Amino acid sequence: MTDSNNRNFVSEIIDEHNESGRFEGRVHTRFPPEPNGYLHIGHAKSICLNFDIAAQYGGLCNLRFDDTNPAKEEQEYIDAITEDVRWLGYDWGDRLYFASDYFDRLYDMAVELIRIGRAYVDELSTDEIREYRGTLTSPGVESPYRDRPIAENLALFEKMRDGGFNEGEAVLRAKIDMKSGNINLRDPVMYRILDARHPRTGDKWKIYPMYDFAHGQSDSIEEITHSICTLEYEDHRPLYDWYLDNIEIFHPQQIEFARLNLSHTVLSKRKLIRLVQEGHVRGWDDPRMPTISGLRRRGYTPAAIRDFCDEIGVGKVKGVVALHKLEYHIRQDLNRRANRVMAVINPLKVVITNYPDDLVEEMEAVNNPEDESAGTRLTPFSKVLYIEGDDFMEDPPRKFFRLAPGREVRLRYAYFITCNEVIKDDSGAITELRCTYDPATRGGAAPDDRRVKATLHWVSAAHAVKAEARLYDTLFSVEYPERDSERDFTEFINPDSMKVVDPIYVEPHLRDAQIGDRFQFERLAYFVVDEDSKPEKLVFNRTVALRDQWRKHQNKAGKKRKQRRKR
Ligand code: ATP
Ligand code: MG
Repeated sequence: MTDSNNRNFVSEIIDEHNESGRFEGRVHTRFPPEPNGYLHIGHAKSICLNFDIAAQYGGLCNLRFDDTNPAKEEQEYIDAITEDVRWLGYDWGDRLYFASDYFDRLYDMAVELIRIGRAYVDELSTDEIREYRGTLTSPGVESPYRDRPIAENLALFEKMRDGGFNEGEAVLRAKIDMKSGNINLRDPVMYRILDARHPRTGDKWKIYPMYDFAHGQSDSIEEITHSICTLEYEDHRPLYDWYLDNIEIFHPQQIEFARLNLSHTVLSKRKLIRLVQEGHVRGWDDPRMPTISGLRRRGYTPAAIRDFCDEIGVGKVKGVVALHKLEYHIRQDLNRRANRVMAVINPLKVVITNYPDDLVEEMEAVNNPEDESAGTRLTPFSKVLYIEGDDFMEDPPRKFFRLAPGREVRLRYAYFITCNEVIKDDSGAITELRCTYDPATRGGAAPDDRRVKATLHWVSAAHAVKAEARLYDTLFSVEYPERDSERDFTEFINPDSMKVVDPIYVEPHLRDAQIGDRFQFERLAYFVVDEDSKPEKLVFNRTVALRDQWRKHQNKAGKKRKQRRKR
């Protein structure tokens, strides 16, 4: 999908295979989600990698659900994941698969391993199995059931399948090596009994394969050539190899890469589920969530996410990517595609004292300076306006160039105005500015070489549409919410991660905006129309702020001050 032909260590491995003829030049990958939660931006990295690299080599990429644990998996997740992958722009053709499609074959493979003396039914309890497994520094201990005769194992495995045991009473284990330095090889469990209805196979099975017993063989069944996964599975590779070699079936090449970690958020489904279930967010698709559905609702585009994945690349080194990198790509993309509109979030009333009471002028405004085909629109101007409260200071510091008493500024697409009077209420709060306009500056250009230092956005008070704005900040107030082992990550949730402003005032033509429409509110931020919008009231999510010139200036000034102090 991305047009870059990014070279990375994975493509180097594929090139080697193509040279040696290992897979006869075939490249067939898959994206293998477990349907136990919604996809997040980390999954997007894996999706882009798998689909893009297959496309680069003229190969194929499957979508396969590794649905081996019915206790945690749900149809809702299957549907959401399918939608998200498609939304990202990827197409698996008719190759949508489920590990559960292979349950019969996996069962036969397990029987095969029992037959050749490489698997046995163990009746130790779950706790005993854990104890016997040993630790990183001490070897494991063999189960007393390990050397059962093959016939007995076959009969007991059948009994497991037929419901002759309760959950936890028996498991099928591979007979490998209880002293292996790799704990995954210490007679791992292949099958366990689960009293759960499977979203796809219903009540057919009482036993379910472990992920590790299903994953490698599912890849093999689909004749995947390059089985790309994250680094945590490096230690599982010897086990997958062992299964494939002992069952003697097609052997894909597993390749591990470093998973994406992102600052100011968490990317583990276990933790994301907690955020949802404990009510820290409004759901999986809350715009503060790092899920694909959350990013979509936040206003992110598939292209921005793909560009981000492309930029961060694929490697073997673990690290945390700064959130601003993701924000950079959505800004880039929306700059190209979002129409500009004027909206006032913190309204300050302006009365143009010399403007006729009943006059309304339609001012021509450019929809997108980056895209001429977006055209222009007409927007009404009248005597009473709202401007942004932050664009006025009664007693401005030296570098504040916007409106102030006695100062002239440009109202975008309209006129130059000069502030003559500041009206306040009893508490001293500013309630209104009285200004005059210069009719000779219509369209925002002076007939002489008169200059103004600021151009402000505005809306006509009588015409503007009221709406709700949801202003988001990072969900966590620290960069690495998982780093403190003493404290739960939820303790670092940012209490100000969502601020609702109601009403804001937007240009009248936005009345017709549709859910999902994206805009740049000039000089403020990019916004998207949220699905909570009603015919009588629009709701806008702030996708990402524009860079704020004033704050940038303050930061610069701050830095200079610091430098001076240092000297
Ligand atoms: P989590 O730890 O969030 O539960 P998971 O690995 O259990 O993730 P799966 O549904 O098994 O979730 O993941 C599907 C694919 O996506 C796997 O190949 C996995 O390696 C990959 N993946 C998951 N998280 C990331 C990540 N943060 N960065 C890159 N790839 C990821
Ligand atoms: Mg997983």
